[in-house]
Amino acid sequence: MSRLLIAALMALALAACKPAAEIAAPAANVVDSSDVPDPNSYAQPNRVRIEHLVLNLQADMAARTLAGSAELHLKWQDDKARELVLDTRDLQIRGVQGFDGKAWKNLSYRLDTADLILGSALRIKLPSALPRVRVAYSTVPEASGLQWLTPEMTASKQPFMFSQSQAIHARSWVPLQDTPGVRFTYDARIRTDASLMALMSADNDPRAVRDGDYRFSMPQKIPSYLLAIAVGDVVFKPISARSGVWAEPSVAEAAATEFADTEKMIQVAEKLYGPYQWGRYDMLILPASFPFGGMENPRLSFITPTVIVGDKSLTSLIAHELAHSWSGNLVTNSSWKDIWLNEGFTSYVENRIVEQLYGRELADMENVISQASLAEALKSTPPADQVLALPPLTGRDPDEALSDVAYIKGQWFLMFLEQRFGRETFDAFLRHWFTTHAFTSSHSAEFERFLTVELLEKNPGKASIGEIREWLHRPGIPSSATPAISSRFVAVDKAQAQWLAGDVPASGLTGTTWGTQEWVRFLERMPATLAKTQLDQLDATFRFTGTANPEIAQRWYPLTVRSGYTDARPEIESFLTTIGRRKLIMPIYVELAKTDEGRAFAMAVFEKARPGYHPITSGSVTEALKVPEPEAKQP
Ligand SMILES: [Zn+2]
Repeated sequence: MSRLLIAALMALALAACKPAAEIAAPAANVVDSSDVPDPNSYAQPNRVRIEHLVLNLQADMAARTLAGSAELHLKWQDDKARELVLDTRDLQIRGVQGFDGKAWKNLSYRLDTADLILGSALRIKLPSALPRVRVAYSTVPEASGLQWLTPEMTASKQPFMFSQSQAIHARSWVPLQDTPGVRFTYDARIRTDASLMALMSADNDPRAVRDGDYRFSMPQKIPSYLLAIAVGDVVFKPISARSGVWAEPSVAEAAATEFADTEKMIQVAEKLYGPYQWGRYDMLILPASFPFGGMENPRLSFITPTVIVGDKSLTSLIAHELAHSWSGNLVTNSSWKDIWLNEGFTSYVENRIVEQLYGRELADMENVISQASLAEALKSTPPADQVLALPPLTGRDPDEALSDVAYIKGQWFLMFLEQRFGRETFDAFLRHWFTTHAFTSSHSAEFERFLTVELLEKNPGKASIGEIREWLHRPGIPSSATPAISSRFVAVDKAQAQWLAGDVPASGLTGTTWGTQEWVRFLERMPATLAKTQLDQLDATFRFTGTANPEIAQRWYPLTVRSGYTDARPEIESFLTTIGRRKLIMPIYVELAKTDEGRAFAMAVFEKARPGYHPITSGSVTEALKVPEPEAKQP
């Protein structure tokens, strides 16, 4: 997934507050992910694993439900087992049948009381270790992993539905073993309105006839969080023989143009890390309410339209989602505590693709921006959550692990290794990791062992095990880290200082040649507040208020709020009511919530915007706009 949590959200996360001594030391000879239990799933993969899934579902756009059946093909480790435990959340179970090799027979089952984070375990009684079990069920309109958009919320004024299964939302639309430690293949038949197209994280056919009845096959094994579905009025535009975009008709052309470099990106990544192993690589451009930047659903990345800005300056998001085809989709974390193995690796690979395609200067600028974001996030992150190899997320929502620590500190660790061992050696090592662990799930202890044997011991004297352990198991940024620097930002900082001192007018800034990253730097490094005359001058020269570039809006609007510059309010309202991507809108809500007047304005805007937001976004905004409790007295 693209980076989504910001400092303010981190502050809201429940702190685990485990003392450092409790951080598990890496176990020796750990090679099998199945011996690390996943506390965020009720499944028992040590006894049985789903090998294959067959979905047969009707997507009812009016009722906002998926209804039908999920057939699970099982591989038993424990032949004496008489119970199958599946993860579910808010599913309406209609019946369960088992296949004994000859006939389907009804089975008795029990749905446990729901846990707030985990949902309900579905416990199915078995006469023997049956090879197949089929669950008939339907979803509820509020399913946490699905968003149903009304026609008004889309460009083509047609209903739209899409899934977001990561981290543990697949269980809200399919009963299964919802843990990244289990991989399976799947087939699906999806029926819906004949006027709409259905797509999945599978073999989508660019020439498919739109008739409301669609069949899919996913021959590569994937974990449940990569199970994905979308239904809407989308059309296909090719980019290359194996790549293209699906989008609403009015967006398709602009999307194909913006992401024209996708084939080049695939080739760059293949050269670095080996062949692309998933067949086609297509992108589905979602309506602007999509709460994230992108989601790496295999063969079909889900992408926010907010990166279509006309100059390809935000296409590192595509590099990120594509990079997941190696880091994550090919080798993922076996439970969410080790998400850095997925997102940290992906941020590193993303940056290598950006460097290769667009040059070192852009790659450097992006690293400076993300490292500044990490520094900000760490201020409000409990030390126990600042380590890469987190302790088990027992009792916690795994979405909390999707932090800047996993993405940026993880990436920084790999950059450190690249610097110490040299690019050639490190590239070969990483390729070796992907090849030897392809289509499996892994964890930090296994990586530490692999790193020790394959990199440290084969290249003695380059880095010590102490340095490696500091990166993995200690909070903060190790002293062995080299901060990114950008010569272009040095020039931006100089120009900004001259403008702030009144030595040059806004029109004298070299801003006309700046790209998105330079503008982000310029705005992020501003004093907390500016005078109205300064804001007027910037707006008159660069038209920040009402900008079509959401990365600029994300920085400009909070600055106007802090500075009491109410001239921007109508455009803030328009921004917040058209875009639902959390990363972009949360900084504005957080800033508004700091004063009574700002909160009142934000509440009124949220009221209008809410029907268009994803439940994940609405939850974040509700949390940010809460009146803070008076601080509890320390005993
Ligand atoms: Zn990602």
